[in-house]
Amino acid sequence: MALIVQKFGGTSVGTVERIEQVAEKVKKFREAGDDIVVVVSAMSGETNRLIGLAKQIMDQPIPRELDVMVSTGEQVTIALLSMALMKRGVPAVSYTGNQVRILTDSSHTKARILSIDDANIRADLKAGRVVVVAGFQGVDEQGNITTLGRGGSDTTGVALAAALKADECQIYTDVDGVYTTDPRVVPQARRLDKITFEEMLEMASLGSKVLQIRSVEFAGKYNVPLRVLHSFQEGPGTLITLDEEESMEQPIISGIAFNRDEAKLTIRGVPDTPGVAFKILGPISAANVEVDMIVQNVAHDNTTDFTFTVHRNDYQAALEILKQTATTIGAREATGDTNIAKVSIVGVGMRSHAGVASRMFEALAKETINIQMISTSEIKVSVVIEEKYLELAVRALHTAFELDAPARQGE
Ligand code: ADP
Ligand code: ASP
Ligand code: MG
Repeated sequence: MALIVQKFGGTSVGTVERIEQVAEKVKKFREAGDDIVVVVSAMSGETNRLIGLAKQIMDQPIPRELDVMVSTGEQVTIALLSMALMKRGVPAVSYTGNQVRILTDSSHTKARILSIDDANIRADLKAGRVVVVAGFQGVDEQGNITTLGRGGSDTTGVALAAALKADECQIYTDVDGVYTTDPRVVPQARRLDKITFEEMLEMASLGSKVLQIRSVEFAGKYNVPLRVLHSFQEGPGTLITLDEEESMEQPIISGIAFNRDEAKLTIRGVPDTPGVAFKILGPISAANVEVDMIVQNVAHDNTTDFTFTVHRNDYQAALEILKQTATTIGAREATGDTNIAKVSIVGVGMRSHAGVASRMFEALAKETINIQMISTSEIKVSVVIEEKYLELAVRALHTAFELDAPARQGE
């Protein structure tokens, strides 16, 4: 008998009919003799709807109150799913994050899980109940409701699986696994049977929202067997694993990630003196704005240009600060650009292959896509390009790295 944690995302519980379907599925697992803990998201669109309401009151909703409100989305689905299970004769009980006691820190809207009290859940499982837990939420030491950041139900699922030492954590969603890239953008994308934690972590942090980054971090840290599957179609899904098989077929690139969440800032004509990077980026980080890619050009006539990217939400604030800095350090000008996108190729195979980056640049050059910035690490290469070329770039790279699925018969 296995203990399985199953997480169902927003579209999988998006209607009452779907919740009934999820209940049918859970019932089958239960009848096969497994102990089941189910984690559910809010019905699709609900979290956005709630945030929209708050924004009608104020542009930047007060984080504590926002958490009180958005956590209601998941509270609705746990109750509905428990009812749907009990209607089918499956004993079930729902818990909010607070009722389980998923203890988090107090960073509202992006809280981190500190510990999970598994006593209630274990007692219920022992009594033969399916336990249905609200994803995305927890409670801090003071009893305030917290949430774990967008997509946070994945993290609830994995954290519960780690705490309960579950045999597997299954993430059920609206695609049948992790693909070489977002299958909604590239129809030729292929499902991967396996991907390493390391690669999945890069894919998630570079923009593939199929799993929340923290859920992958958690799964890697506690070695939780993690699988992504389709909620309503049979199939093996994708296993996220530790082992990096050395096979001849191992592709150099496992996947392509992309995002439109960043904006670019440039300061020109900066006097090139020691400490200049600190003078520029110090005030930015003091304002709690995270910087991603950074490029400083070679100095010319004792002045240099400096470019970096930040999250689009921080763009206005960062530009104001940079304009200030330009005045104080005697730089020529500070400008910004939000029409950018970041495309990244990811793969552990890169470690043992040379020329991966140049193959990427060649593929982009063939499409006459200009590269504005580049950053690399051991297992990824990222470039910043003009946003309008994003889909073209992803498709070109998908083909260049031979990731396209073979055409099916008749296509
Ligand atoms: P859920 O509501 O179930 O949590 P999400 O919308 O958060 O689902 O994540 C699933 C979506 O992630 C898919 O519908 C797909 O469009 C997107 N996605 C992005 N990159 C990938 C990828 N590499 N593989 C699979 N899906 C991806
Ligand atoms: N409902 C939350 C969100 O939409 C959490 C989740 O679905 O994972 O971000
Ligand atoms: Mg999600």
